[in-house]
Amino acid sequence: MTEKQCLLELTSEQIKEVIIALNEKGYRAGQIYKALHLGLDFSEMTELSKQLRERLSEQFVAQPVKIIKSLKSVDGTEKFLFALLDGNVIEGVLMKYKYGYTLCVSTQVGCRMGCAFCASGLNGLVRNLTPSEILGEVICANRYLDGGLADKRKIINIVMMGSGEPLDNYDNVIKFLKLVSNASGINVSPRNISLSTSGIVPKMYDLAKEDIHVNLTVSLHSPFDEARQKIMPVAKAYSIKQILDACANYFDKTGRRYIFEYVLIKGDTDTPEHAEALIKLLKGRPCHVNLIRLNEVKEKNLKTVTDKEAYRFLGLLEKGGLSATLRRRMGVDIDGACGQLRQRYIEENQ
Ligand code: SAH
Ligand code: SF4
Repeated sequence: MTEKQCLLELTSEQIKEVIIALNEKGYRAGQIYKALHLGLDFSEMTELSKQLRERLSEQFVAQPVKIIKSLKSVDGTEKFLFALLDGNVIEGVLMKYKYGYTLCVSTQVGCRMGCAFCASGLNGLVRNLTPSEILGEVICANRYLDGGLADKRKIINIVMMGSGEPLDNYDNVIKFLKLVSNASGINVSPRNISLSTSGIVPKMYDLAKEDIHVNLTVSLHSPFDEARQKIMPVAKAYSIKQILDACANYFDKTGRRYIFEYVLIKGDTDTPEHAEALIKLLKGRPCHVNLIRLNEVKEKNLKTVTDKEAYRFLGLLEKGGLSATLRRRMGVDIDGACGQLRQRYIEENQ
């Protein structure tokens, strides 16, 4: 990892202190802050004198993330492979909707939760991403789309559903949320940011106490504790009842309806008994269920469901009075599931 500090991590006021210490005029800080959040490197900040640009690059790093590969799906979904300064790679997915772009970001290199169906956890956790690296993913994608800052941004929504467990990198994720929602930067409203967790209960309570209220999404994947433990090791630490209580607390504190993600795995999570138990568990709660067809990961021996089976399961939930949707299949041709592209890259480069 580079020893230089990343300037993206600093607020405009902190950059001002740096600039003044370099005997430069304080107003330069605002220009530098904007340029950094637009994704520029020091060499591209032509408003600044050559000497200042050089002095800054001697001491600091401007952009901690760059796009090294992009794959476009036939459905318009685009997947990025981002390189970090220490040579690690992470991935992000850009999805185009009628109202703008949603970016799915990674919060860790790898993941230590070890869910049975997920490619991100195949090699465990490598390291946490820093706040400016998570922000860097957003900045890179926004620049790629020729987006500007605030109301000129192209990234409208952010979902933390790439590699990593955001609540296992809590402090950095909170700092990232403050940076990305700052009015002078890209300024994505917390209302348009979703945090997906495998259900780390104490951190869900912490999140409810923050002054930034994002949309909370919990990966449930089974209405039965025992079966859930088989596919999600973290379920051994926290029961479904504890998760539901933490969600209810989040709703009390924030007024935000929460979302459950539910992966349909043939035979394991998609039977009428599962639907029935799910209805019993969730009926009457201020929540929504998002069904996801399993993206088959070649290293794992789990099978996905057919479209017909997925719609049948959706129909059962709706009939039972739950608010539910089936997520559009996106980017299947480009290793759409979280962690798959990175895994492929690691294999090819070993
Ligand atoms: N670690 C967090 C967020 C990243 S995973 C979490 O687990 O919630 C984002 C979502 O993708 C989760 O709901 C996860 O269960 C799901 N997911 C992981 N691998 C998948 C696969 N192969 N097919 C479909 N969904 C998958
Ligand atoms: Fe980690 Fe989420 Fe993948 Fe589980 S599903 S291994 S928590 S990234």
